[in-house]
Amino acid sequence: MFIGHYGPAFGAKAALRTIPLWVLFIAVQWLDVCWSILVLLGVEKVRITPGFTQGSPLDLYFMPYTHGLIGALILSAVYGAIVALFMQERKAYAFLIAAAAVFSHWILDFVVHVQDLPLWDNSMKVGLGLWRWVWISLPLELLTLFAGAWLYVKFVPARRGGNIWLWGFVVAMAAVEFYGKFGPPPTSPSAEAETALTAYLVLAALAAFVDLTRAKREIAHP
Ligand SMILES: [Zn+2]
Repeated sequence: MFIGHYGPAFGAKAALRTIPLWVLFIAVQWLDVCWSILVLLGVEKVRITPGFTQGSPLDLYFMPYTHGLIGALILSAVYGAIVALFMQERKAYAFLIAAAAVFSHWILDFVVHVQDLPLWDNSMKVGLGLWRWVWISLPLELLTLFAGAWLYVKFVPARRGGNIWLWGFVVAMAAVEFYGKFGPPPTSPSAEAETALTAYLVLAALAAFVDLTRAKREIAHP
């Protein structure tokens, strides 16, 4: 699951429009941002095994800090608290929305990953493993993305042409996912981590742009 994680980011924005979309884009990948950094530092470990599952060549055999249930809950709470700190109003609600956006990553990973998500330390690993069948996981992922985008379109009013930018962005994201799934596998764990971090930054920057195409608030009619 890569692009599907952004469905909840769009959905969270629909739930609380004062949070910038780019903040939610980082939120839904926060566990993987931390994972990429820990992989680069050699703390968490991954093997590249082409064909490991149809949907991913990553054998994620050691990632208890970022993708263990406890670690994921802590990272969600920390991110939620940071977002709440910057909010002028509705801080508790902002905490909940941002923390839920972060934790949605773990839930979606649970659906597609094989049993590599530890419930405790590096043991009791869970995962439904839908990545084993890419023609099930891929449509599910796209559906999650498009459902979130639809909520965003419905609840976050657009300036003129805003929805065209939005749907163009979403379709481009889906295209990137296809390339990721069927293009060449990463050459090394650190290459995978660097590519991932770059992708998260670029997508967050594009999300900031998409947010500019939405109206600040409902247009008041005197
Ligand atoms: Zn992940």
